[in-house]
Amino acid sequence: MYRAPRGTADILPVEQPYWRFVEQKAAAICQLYGYERIDTPTFEDTQLFARGIGDATDIVRKEMYSFSGGELTLRPEGTAPVCRAYIQHGMHSWPQPVKLYYIASLFRHERPQAGRYRQHHQFGYEAIGSADAALDGEVIDVAWQFYQSLGLRDLSLQLNSIGCRKCRPEYLAALRAYYEPVTGLCRDCVTRRTTNPLRLLDCKNESCQQVADAAPKSTDQLCPECATHFGKLKGHLAVLGIPFEVNHRLVRGLDYYTRTVFEFQPAEGGAQSAIGGGGRYDDLIEVLGGRPTPGIGFATGIERIVLNLKKQGIPVPALSHPPVFIAGIGDAARDEAVKLAARLRRSGIGVIEAVGGRSLKAQLRQANSLGARYTVIIGEEELAGDNAVLRDMSGARQETVPLGQLPQKLQKMVS
Ligand code: AMP
Repeated sequence: MYRAPRGTADILPVEQPYWRFVEQKAAAICQLYGYERIDTPTFEDTQLFARGIGDATDIVRKEMYSFSGGELTLRPEGTAPVCRAYIQHGMHSWPQPVKLYYIASLFRHERPQAGRYRQHHQFGYEAIGSADAALDGEVIDVAWQFYQSLGLRDLSLQLNSIGCRKCRPEYLAALRAYYEPVTGLCRDCVTRRTTNPLRLLDCKNESCQQVADAAPKSTDQLCPECATHFGKLKGHLAVLGIPFEVNHRLVRGLDYYTRTVFEFQPAEGGAQSAIGGGGRYDDLIEVLGGRPTPGIGFATGIERIVLNLKKQGIPVPALSHPPVFIAGIGDAARDEAVKLAARLRRSGIGVIEAVGGRSLKAQLRQANSLGARYTVIIGEEELAGDNAVLRDMSGARQETVPLGQLPQKLQKMVS
């Protein structure tokens, strides 16, 4: 028997109300703040990710699905493709900042576990073309308001600044010096010490975490410009009334971040449970071959949102079903049912037609299980009088109605 590949999942009809709810709230919040939708291809040149995300990151080193001789890669994240599109379409000549959002599936060859998949979906957005700290505040506010609009409770906002090209080298040197004499690090951290020292700070291994807790803090070593930016952002968040915690171990897994990084964590979650995260990437567009352009973005995993909606027992609106079911008895009734269904659908009323010539009882059972509000029954007797029986499924009341009057009558009843 074939099964969906490891780390992937089918999103069955019963799950769809959650997904539609999240997608609708995402589109609504983006409209409120002036973010427009962009869809980029599912795969890109491998180099876009290698350069953008960084050769030393977990994603590029071991998680990319590459093909065509390694030239192309299924997108593992959404920011680099949007920046590529910004450069390709000359968006620097549009009014700045350019604000774009996406809802897309992403692919990472990770070890599957609860809330961690090989194909997952993100709602993300980017604001490109301004270095103003007020934009950092807005980007965080969009995420905050989005989670509020979903009804999610008890999310904490973790915030950090990891500096810029100017001040980060000095910080990394301090970090290396601090870690150099440390023994007993996990194998990954021993490698990180030389390849990617920032990532030492967010190791999930408990003994490494204790070492990281006492490590030098990036916020203590910011250059004056980065310190001012961080101070302004904290001021904006205070004005917006968004509570946050500065977490000096928050660095995020991709190399392109500068200055602001942030994450939202549910109250009861393990170390891998961030529901969304983002940050500023002031060098990325230049690294990808564009003219120097600052930017900031955020992305949140839809699977994890759905998981938290369920955990918190948040009800989501049901999706509507066709309200009318047509049951027919006999061959002549069949033709009349087909005609009626076509007439009703053309006037905008959703209809399910019985198929398979089952007994009336079985057809009514099917109408019930499909959640039909009304069933039209066409039998030989009704047909002879050019009538049909209209049955209200909630009260099981029924009446005989001339076939010609049914569309008008049903239109009134279902509207
Ligand atoms: P990232 O692009 O790694 O910053 O991830 C942003 C958000 O996407 C995370 O906070 C998660 O909610 C979600 N996410 C990332 N990786 C996965 C994954 N493998 N499976 C499910 N959700 C994920």
